[in-house]
Amino acid sequence: MSNEEWKKAFAQKLSEVFGKNVFRKEDLTKEFYVDLRIGCSDFFETEDGAFDQDLFWSEGLQNWLMEDKSELMTDSSDRLAMLCARIGKFNEDRDWGQFHSPCNLAKSISIEAAELLECFQWDDTDYDRNDVIEELADVMNYCIQMSQVLGVDMIDIINEKMDKNEKKYPVDKARGVSAKYDEL
Ligand SMILES: [Mg+2]
Repeated sequence: MSNEEWKKAFAQKLSEVFGKNVFRKEDLTKEFYVDLRIGCSDFFETEDGAFDQDLFWSEGLQNWLMEDKSELMTDSSDRLAMLCARIGKFNEDRDWGQFHSPCNLAKSISIEAAELLECFQWDDTDYDRNDVIEELADVMNYCIQMSQVLGVDMIDIINEKMDKNEKKYPVDKARGVSAKYDEL
């Protein structure tokens, strides 16, 4: 792995573990380093598999943790990681994680989905597109938060589900047919 790839992968991992990848000096506490060692140990392995103490405690690493990493993250999966990190930080800054049990988030997804449907309450075709987009964003925002609370990667779980869907609905049987898979 090149240095640039290492930084990119590490920045993504930081987003997953901490909900952000840019830190302030006061974030770099003893507890932070404990979590960093546990959550990101793969990034500190020397060639012989030992833990790289020198790198872990280096000033270079400390400075890099405080740098803006948006330059590193430009493709679409990086944009998703940045969005997840932004949502994580939004909640962390407000100490709202305490309200985000899986049950509360499932309720919130359902409530926002109902608000999305409300946009079409009296007319299937004459709807306010901006309202629809806002409610759609609310649904997806809560879906992201639920994946964060469950500690799962959204892309992975959707891909796994797509694997199943492709098997359940083979093109030769399902093309142009809206029947359920067990009625194909
Ligand atoms: Mg809403």
